[in-house]
Amino acid sequence: MNLLVNEIFYSIQGESTFAGLPCIFVRLAGCNLRCRWCDTTYAHKNGELLSLEEIIEKIRRYSCSLVEITGGEPLLQENTPTLADELLSLGYRVLVETNGSQNIDLVSRICHRIVDFKCPGSGMHQHNDLQNITRLTPNDQVKFVISNREDYLFSCNLAETIREKTGSEFPILFSPAVPDLKPKTLARWILQDSLEVRLQVQLHKIIWGTNARGV
Ligand code: SF4
Repeated sequence: MNLLVNEIFYSIQGESTFAGLPCIFVRLAGCNLRCRWCDTTYAHKNGELLSLEEIIEKIRRYSCSLVEITGGEPLLQENTPTLADELLSLGYRVLVETNGSQNIDLVSRICHRIVDFKCPGSGMHQHNDLQNITRLTPNDQVKFVISNREDYLFSCNLAETIREKTGSEFPILFSPAVPDLKPKTLARWILQDSLEVRLQVQLHKIIWGTNARGV
């Protein structure tokens, strides 16, 4: 049972409500989308085939109970659910960051699925699987990366739909696509509209620099 792995590293979680916590990242290779502002293009194709045991062995080198499975798009690999289940059974808290185009119920609902629905500015919003809205649980989080006013309005509409359909108060994250949109501009829009969403910046980029990898 193998997975194509781009990198495994230990760093500070930079996004979601887990931002700021030490976390082990398993970045799987391969993505079905090509977002205009993608900052992990190196993971689109390049990876090493590792067995489940080899991945777990690398994770165990770190003294940390939080693991994020990311990509690329992690739900494209058929063995990702097994990796998530194995980590859960070993007592890890598991985050799965997904681009919103795949069925999030492929992985256990015990995981925290961070669903990155795409906005028009990414060029990929037509790939959003909106059936995922009905699959969300209070364990999950929804993220929008926003690069302009059109993206902002799109995110507001979809966030409202999500809240109406789920009736749940789980976190909705608005993240500015820097440098296209300044955090200050997005903050002003959120405050002007009294939105109950969480503004987030990419903490790992502030700490390590915009182009740093494996951190
Ligand atoms: S879904 Fe993620 S990895 Fe894939 S192209 Fe978009 S930003 Fe890049």
